[in-house]
Amino acid sequence: MLNRSLANVLRTTSEHLSKLESLGVTKVKDFLLYFPRTYNDNTEFTKIMDIRTDEVNVIKGKLSNLFTIRTRTGKKLTRGIFNDETGSIEVIWFNQPHLTRMLPRQKEIILTGKAKFSGGKVSLQSPSYEVVRQYEEQVHTGRIVPVYHETEGISSKWIREKLKPLVDEWIELFEEYMPDEVLKEHDLVDYKTAIKNVHFPESDEILKKARKRLAFDELFLLQLKVIQKKWYWQKSTQAKTKNIEIKTDVIKECIKKLDFDLTNAQKRVLKEILNDVKKSFPMSRLLQGDVGSGKTIVAAIAALNIAKNGYQVAIMAPTEILAKQHYATFVKTLSSFCLNIQFIAGSTTSKQKEEVVRQMKSGTVDIVIGTHALIQEKIGFKNLGLAIIDEQHRFGVKQRETLKNYGTPHLLNMTATPIPRTLAITIYGDQDLSIIDEMPKGRQEILTRIVPENKRTEAYRWVEDQIQKGRQAFIICPLIDESDILEVKAVQTEFLHLKEHIFPKLNLGLLHGKLKQDEKDKIMEDFKDNKINVLVSTSVIEVGIDIPNATIMMIEGAQRFGLSQLHQFRGRVGRGGFKSFCFLFPSETSEEALKRLKSMEKFSCGFKLAEIDLELRGPGEVYGVRQSGIPDLKMASLTDTKTIEKARNSAIEIIRKDPLLKEHEKLAEKIAINEEVYFND
Ligand code: ADP
Ligand code: MG
Repeated sequence: MLNRSLANVLRTTSEHLSKLESLGVTKVKDFLLYFPRTYNDNTEFTKIMDIRTDEVNVIKGKLSNLFTIRTRTGKKLTRGIFNDETGSIEVIWFNQPHLTRMLPRQKEIILTGKAKFSGGKVSLQSPSYEVVRQYEEQVHTGRIVPVYHETEGISSKWIREKLKPLVDEWIELFEEYMPDEVLKEHDLVDYKTAIKNVHFPESDEILKKARKRLAFDELFLLQLKVIQKKWYWQKSTQAKTKNIEIKTDVIKECIKKLDFDLTNAQKRVLKEILNDVKKSFPMSRLLQGDVGSGKTIVAAIAALNIAKNGYQVAIMAPTEILAKQHYATFVKTLSSFCLNIQFIAGSTTSKQKEEVVRQMKSGTVDIVIGTHALIQEKIGFKNLGLAIIDEQHRFGVKQRETLKNYGTPHLLNMTATPIPRTLAITIYGDQDLSIIDEMPKGRQEILTRIVPENKRTEAYRWVEDQIQKGRQAFIICPLIDESDILEVKAVQTEFLHLKEHIFPKLNLGLLHGKLKQDEKDKIMEDFKDNKINVLVSTSVIEVGIDIPNATIMMIEGAQRFGLSQLHQFRGRVGRGGFKSFCFLFPSETSEEALKRLKSMEKFSCGFKLAEIDLELRGPGEVYGVRQSGIPDLKMASLTDTKTIEKARNSAIEIIRKDPLLKEHEKLAEKIAINEEVYFND
């Protein structure tokens, strides 16, 4: 019944119906679950004596002397006197003569509107009105009034009017699906009460309870789903890899050959990974670690172990530059272990590609490193044992899943975009988490400063000085969302300006997304070889490239970037032994923008910055809702750690007792439906 089309239920025009549809509302159920964005609390009435001009006042009183006159200019003016126990005020409406008939006299009504001072007196102009009925029936005024996301032609007022009778009529059909013990444990109101009161709350207190319940539900259902998914994964999926051992000797030898010691955190996560690949079901693990924390070497050792067990390993990176860098690291680190390591990317000639693919299929290649080229159609593996995806958030959900389908290998996702733990367990709860929370020894903090416009020249001279000393610099140009072409234009203009007027004596390079792959690679190579002093770039530079001699990162229009992204940029420097610097040039200096950038000066830990960003901008903005499968929550906040933990514990408990939700039919139904809502990419 709740699935009935609104067209059959609502008395309204087809125009309104199609507008509702654009808000995602087509069925009765959708409409009742179209929750308010916020509320106007009008429950406090203003006494007429206390009315302030130019503010919205809500007054309860009675009308008298109401009549309509025609002004000299031909307008119809309805005028009356409104009284409460403290005084009276004139009320005026324009061109609404019907009000004279409609509004009752000597009955209490509530007016909401602005008071204006004109013609020597204060009057209430064109207020909205509502006749006082039973308290709970007032819809628009005199209570906590719901405010909805509106669209053209659909106002909150319209929604309230249409929704109120629907809620009254249909609310009984909403069935409780949450187990009793969960409701009790977390002191939650029942589902019906929650829906009813989220729209038309009887009090502030019950509204809070309603919102608490609905927020809990969102986080609970989301997690129930991932926890169940994980359970399935572990029970029903068998690892194709058999008898994998931890080749302790080989691993020790490899570690000994490194020109540094692994950090304790690296050792710990390596153990976690190695222990996983022995299990009978495939690993599904997310390795998080701040920029420069040394994830690659961990991946390389894990790969070595799998390869030495006779299985193949695939490593996929989001850009060719990065894939190449990994390839170089792997070749170097694993040089003495007699492994066939291959590279495949867009720039690989078709002949080379064919050869690599042939080797992948026949099993002669041990480790293959590449870009998206790795998941193209004609690819295949003989016995893929481990798939590693670097900077996993750069790939869509589908792309990430593709590698899984080559014989359910162990899966290691890596990311340098720090995701606060609560968020990670919520959205990636089907993966186990490994966190490198320690930087290699000797890393210096990167001095970060917001540079005001009047210090710009000084900053440029300082850069020049550093370059004279042999160092290199990045200059990142502002993000331009609307168009790639504009962004490229902007960076080209900036490049010319810098080249001609600021650094005429230096070698400048220009990098942007519209360059061909081989052009990009050439520039990066030249920068790596210190043939370029200053690299001017758009945000394409972002991912994990490693240029130890670069010590300065200047970011133009810094406030346009998210903190996590700024932190990624900053992570491009400070990779060698030299003291490094990050200069932020904001193109807008609002207090808010500066406050956000100040956290860059203050914090050097990516996780902390991600948390701040999340608070300020929400997860959709920070991680991209579509791309990374981050759900678009309506009531809950992914930063609400407490509720997330509570919901998670309840979800774990339920899946532990009843993994297939056989005894929780309604819950099972609910998460089946929610699938479309949450994971629609
Ligand atoms: P990320 O985690 O950002 O991918 P990388 O794996 O690229 O970081 O490592 C960054 C740099 O740190 C590399 O040059 C790498 O060789 C170096 N490195 C990794 N682990 C250590 C360590 N334990 N001690 C010193 N340097 C390390
Ligand atoms: Mg990396």
